[in-house]
Parts: sequence; structure tokens; C-alpha cells
Amino acid sequence: MTDHDRYPLPRTFEEFNEQRRASFVRVKDFKQAGGRLVGYLCSYTPLEVIDAAGASGVALCGTSDEVIPTAELTLPANLCPLIKSTFGFASSEKCPFTYFSDIIVGETTCDGKKKMYELLGELKPTHILHLPQGRDRVWERDAWYGEVRLLKERLEELYDIVITDDDLRAAARRRNRMRRAMCELYDLQTSAPPAMSGVELMSTMFAATFSFDVEEFTGKLEALAAKRRQEFEAGERPVPADAKRILVTGCPIGGVINKIGRTVERMGGVVVCVDDCSGERTQASLVDEDADDILRAIADRYLDINCSVMTPNAARMDNTLAMVEKYRVDGVIESVLTACHTFNVESTLMERAVEGAGIPYMKVETDYSAGDQGQIDTRVAAFIETL
Ligand code: SF4
Ligand code: SF4
Repeated sequence: MTDHDRYPLPRTFEEFNEQRRASFVRVKDFKQAGGRLVGYLCSYTPLEVIDAAGASGVALCGTSDEVIPTAELTLPANLCPLIKSTFGFASSEKCPFTYFSDIIVGETTCDGKKKMYELLGELKPTHILHLPQGRDRVWERDAWYGEVRLLKERLEELYDIVITDDDLRAAARRRNRMRRAMCELYDLQTSAPPAMSGVELMSTMFAATFSFDVEEFTGKLEALAAKRRQEFEAGERPVPADAKRILVTGCPIGGVINKIGRTVERMGGVVVCVDDCSGERTQASLVDEDADDILRAIADRYLDINCSVMTPNAARMDNTLAMVEKYRVDGVIESVLTACHTFNVESTLMERAVEGAGIPYMKVETDYSAGDQGQIDTRVAAFIETL
């Protein structure tokens, strides 16, 4: 039996890739028809504010090495590939989302990204959210609330509109529904064997960031979850029963879905849980739709995201351990993008926490190039063999 027979490309893989391609084509028509488009990069971006402005938020996080040589004409080579790829797409005008965005919303998270935005600002209008470095100081929550308000005001000015509390509340309801749909899909992986491959799950979630219409995409997620659940109940088993259950944590997974996710699944594992900043730990957290101060409720929900740019960030490790239990994980693989200092340093704490719970852990440092694929294959295969 070949690897491909054992783990064929997931059924929706092409469909969601197709969706991404279609969005690329559609974006021009969308703009010509007067559509408002706001590019963003980070999970801390309060999307409800963008939605409430009647705009579509599209993720611009670079996930390909295609434009990295262009980026390295301006940026240092020893920088995270996500930052270089994002900048490369903007400077080479190869990403239609970047090109057609009315404004790009960035944030002061890691140093590389923060400084890259200054150069990006020479190419496109940008708005930078100042993210506090933690949440323990009393003023940090207020400062972030002020930042979310500033974004609202910037969009009101840009589009000459007024964003009301009702607009924000409606946006929070739509986004919460989408988050619940995502969590329903994640939940399918708790069964043994899981109801879908991790690559299918990851590429589906990735496609969400390219959808212009939150409600339309939520409908697709709900339909997919219902379909996979029914198929599972009818006895379909797309994942072999002996596949080792892997939780992938660390840097955003979008650029290494194939390199790490698919490798895990080629080597006898299955990704049951994605623990990056757009994974379950973030999607499970909802905005309090009924809060009196809806803008503050939105700000609070985003500040609570556990990313390694925060200090301290112990809740991330606690959350990972809870997911290890929930998904009956056999092993944890941490994916660290080259030169991502925050996740790389924090990996010591993650390793300690995971191994302390008696679960094997492995860190993979990589970028978007294909150069180390052979080495990753060998390491992942050896890791899974030991489980
Ligand atoms: S890993 Fe952290 S800094 Fe990077 S996109 Fe996610 S939340 Fe933002
Ligand atoms: S992966 Fe790390 S270095 Fe790269 S943009 Fe995110 S936080 Fe910054």
C-alpha cells in the first residue's frame, strides 16, 4: 500500500484550494462593485470591527516561499518566513488581496512583524494596533480597548460611516456562529479514529481566512461538519484506527500544512488537534454578544488569545494540556518557523509541560522552503515510531 493509498489527499482539499483561487479571481470584481476590503495579519485583529464597517476582512499572512527572494531585497534573510512572505507578496504585487486592500491592519506583536509594517506602510495605507505585551497590569486591558476603539474610528473615517453598537453586536453574533461551527469540526477529531484527516481540517480552516462572506462560509463549515458526522456514524473511517494521534502546536500552521501536517499523516499519524493561534484554543473563545459595552467585550475576547508574544503566557501551556487530554493525544509536535524567537524560546516551557504530563514532544524548526523536507520526513517518522 502506498502512502497515497493510505492517506489520500482529503476530499475537500481541492474544493477549499479552489475556493482560495476563486477568491483571488473574485476580489477584482468585488472591488469594482464597490466592495470594501481590509487586509489583516494576526489573530489579535478584532474582525468584528472590520465586519461592522461593512468590509470584508482577508488574511494576508504570507504562506508561500515564492516571493521570499523579492522580500529579501529589502528585509534581512534571517527573519521569519511568514513576515518575509507577507512583505514579498505586497512588494511584488502578486497577492490580489494585498493589492486590492483599502487598508492593512497590523499589530505590534513580534519585533520583526512590527518593523516590517513600517516598510509595508510605504506601499499601502496601514493602521497599526498597539497590542499590550501582557494582560496582568490593570491598564493593559484599557489600553487595548482604546486601540480597538481607534481602529473603529479609523475605519469610520476611511469609509465615511458611523459604526454603531448594533453593527458590532450583529458582527459578534455572526463571528461567534462561525467559531461554533469551527469548534464542531474540531470536535469530530475527538472520536477514535478521528472523523477526518488533519490536513482536511487544516486546509478547511485556512480557507476561512480567504472568504469574503462570513455567513456563507459558516454555512459551508456547518454543512461539512454535519456531513462528516453522518458519514462517521454510517461507519466511514477515513483515518486508519492505528494512526498515532498528534497535536500540532506552535507558530501559524498555514505555510506548513503540507510540510508538517501532511508529513505526519504520511508517516502513520493523524493530526487530531491544531493548537496554533487560529486553532481551537482561539476559536473556542467567544465574544459576549449581550455585553452592555460590546466594543469592550470584543476587545477583551481578543486580548485573551494565548500567543507567545504575551508575557507571561502560561495559559497557552494549560490549554495545550487540556487539549492533549480531550483529543487523547499520543504525541505533540511543535512547529517553529525559522527566526520566530517568541515561540522558539517558549518551546522550552511547552516541552516541560507536555513531557511533564507524560506525553512525548518534538520540536521542528522550519521555513517555507522544500530544502529540509527529507530531514522532516525522517524526524517525524522516527518520532511516530516511538509512540
Ligand atoms: S502567532 Fe501570535 S503574532 Fe503570529 S499571527 Fe498568531 S497571534 Fe499573531
Ligand atoms: S511566527 Fe513568530 S516571528 Fe513569525 S510573525 Fe508570528 S510571532 Fe512573528
